[in-house]
Amino acid sequence: MMQVHYVEPVFRPPSEAYSLILQVTNGCSWNNCTFCEMYTQPQKKFRFKPLKEIEQELAAVVASGEPVRRVFLADGDAMTLSSRRLKLIMKAINRYLPGIQRVSSYCLPRNLKNKTVEELAELNEMGLSLFYVGCESGDDLVLDRVSKGENFETSLSALKKIKAACARSSVMILNGMGGKKYSEQHAVNSARLMNAAQPEYLATLVVSFPTGMERYQQGFKGEFEPLDQAGLFQEMYWLLDTLELEKTIFRSDHASNYLVLKGVLGKDKPRLLATVKAALEQPGSVRLRQEWMRGL
Ligand code: SF4
Repeated sequence: MMQVHYVEPVFRPPSEAYSLILQVTNGCSWNNCTFCEMYTQPQKKFRFKPLKEIEQELAAVVASGEPVRRVFLADGDAMTLSSRRLKLIMKAINRYLPGIQRVSSYCLPRNLKNKTVEELAELNEMGLSLFYVGCESGDDLVLDRVSKGENFETSLSALKKIKAACARSSVMILNGMGGKKYSEQHAVNSARLMNAAQPEYLATLVVSFPTGMERYQQGFKGEFEPLDQAGLFQEMYWLLDTLELEKTIFRSDHASNYLVLKGVLGKDKPRLLATVKAALEQPGSVRLRQEWMRGL
């Protein structure tokens, strides 16, 4: 959208493809995870965008006449803003876009540490109702090795707060993150975290290293061995097998995944497990993405 000034690159979840991306912050205030290169360029140094500029951009979007039904607050952890500031932003969004259906944002567990359920509920009432939480893993050791700065308990506490505020969470788990050595504990503890949190959405991606594994390997003290295709299937089996979800929309269909899985858990657990089992035992029997199609 021409009227909005973006500091590139800008990232958003796939499901926000048709949303207005409103860059209320630039970069990520943590910017430390060893698997993430999203905001490492100098122009992406973390900062807030002044409210006045946000309002000017909203005014320009309205003037363009382009219909906006959904807004995604960028960049990496816009929820690091104080509740007071977020309320001012939501007020502005509602003023300029009164028919808005949904506002969403990435959210780090620590972004919610100093926010109360009441504050989140108030933001939810104003339309900020969906949070994409990159938990990546529920295993404390793996989270430590990749410098996520979170653990099982901090992640669970944030997801519980979101639920208590009647907002929804969409959680991301990264397959292959613990390598061969920690694959099973990564899968099982990630599932345990999900079981305790019962998020509305769960997606898995396969960890990838477009610019090399050096930094990642350092975190693992050189003991990281990436999973091959069979290892990724086995890890997915452990994850699904341990998941006890009541009503979570599950997607494992990102371009980085070899095997596309979709369903509602727990209802579709037997079917999804059977598909992964078939992929493990007879790789020729299920439709897999070819290597060249896996590009991110
Ligand atoms: S918190 Fe998210 S955006 Fe920030 S460094 Fe980690 S993965 Fe990247």
